[in-house]
Amino acid sequence: MVTINLNLNNFSELPVLSEVFGSYDNSYEYTADGIFRKKASPFCPKCNSPMVHNGYNIYGKKELGDIKIGRYKCPNCNCTHEENRSFWEGLKSTLFDSLGDFFKLLRSHNVSHEGISAVMDFIYPRSKSTILREFNNNMEQENVSRDENVLIVCYDEQHPKKGRCQKYRLTLFDPKTQRPLADELFDDKSSKTIKNFLKKHLDTSEPVFIVTDFDKRYPEILSEVFGDKLVHQYCLMHLNKLVVHGFQEKQLLNRNC
Ligand SMILES: [Zn+2]
Repeated sequence: MVTINLNLNNFSELPVLSEVFGSYDNSYEYTADGIFRKKASPFCPKCNSPMVHNGYNIYGKKELGDIKIGRYKCPNCNCTHEENRSFWEGLKSTLFDSLGDFFKLLRSHNVSHEGISAVMDFIYPRSKSTILREFNNNMEQENVSRDENVLIVCYDEQHPKKGRCQKYRLTLFDPKTQRPLADELFDDKSSKTIKNFLKKHLDTSEPVFIVTDFDKRYPEILSEVFGDKLVHQYCLMHLNKLVVHGFQEKQLLNRNC
């Protein structure tokens, strides 16, 4: 165990210092001035003479702290050498790796980069561009499995009238070719009818990617039919229509005010 020379200033830091230097043996010391080095200077790598202590270099990270790393000098050939500081690099990696996991978790809950940055002001300040960069670096290392054989289908409904009767046409079609894969006419479009239609025309035991409009019932219906085999994507064309429609409505309201 490294020898830690305490003084009144760092007395309370003993538990932290012991953990940081836990992997070093008794030949190392952390001096009362905060220098990490070998108690007995090593031999010169060039002429093999015993070296002597020769001050320190400071390594720091903004708002995290800094460390003094001991230097050695050979009195015979003037060669200098610095103590290994891998523990310091390891500490930074541990901290930034866990921050990376923290950013990923918050992003998966749809917290914006700006929102994460505001939260980080309480912990360890990071700008939103830093968070974006670290998040992207983190995601590049993720191994995302790609299943090339996932079936991609679009689901849609039309409301044709047969005489005076309102009918409902449920359709599944291929998004690339726009060709229908299944097309049936029903008297209603209840959840039960939609579920039976999907079960009849799609293999619910295989992964499937389904594109739908923004009907609020779909997520529940689809996840009941396909469970964890499902990837549900809302149709961007329908989203555009909703935005345009909402915009027109707002303009009308403004005009009437
Ligand atoms: Zn030397």
